[in-house]
Amino acid sequence: MSKSKYVTQVCTSCGRESKMEIIGAVVGAENKIWYRCTRCHHSMMVDTAVKSKQDNVITYNREECVDYSPEKVFAVGVSIYHTDWDDMGKVTSKEKTSSGGNAIWVQFEKNGIKKLIENLQLAD
Ligand SMILES: [Zn+2]
Repeated sequence: MSKSKYVTQVCTSCGRESKMEIIGAVVGAENKIWYRCTRCHHSMMVDTAVKSKQDNVITYNREECVDYSPEKVFAVGVSIYHTDWDDMGKVTSKEKTSSGGNAIWVQFEKNGIKKLIENLQLAD
C-alpha cells in the first residue's frame, strides 16, 4: 500500500480544509506527525493515535463471547454470541421494557443492531 505524501485536514491556523504536506515524524513521539498547510504554510503537529481511536471499529472475537440466553444478565461492552443466529455482538446499551423487564441493545456483526431480552424471570 503506497502512502500519499499529502493528507486533507482542517488547518488549525487558517481554519479551512487544506492539503497538508507531511513533513515528518516527531522525534520521541511515534504517533505524532508534522504537517504543513499548503494554503497558509503553517506547520502543525497531528496525533495519529487520537485519529485512529475515532474510527470506533468493533472487533468480534468468538473466544471472548458469552453465549446469549434470555435469563442471563449482560453488562454494557460485553461480547455475546447468539447461537440461533450464529452471530457475535457487543452490548451497547441497556433499557427497561414497557412490561417492566430488562433489555439489551446489541450491535451484531451480521444482523446489525438488535434488541434482546435479558434477566428474564421465568414464571413458575
Ligand atoms: Zn492553513
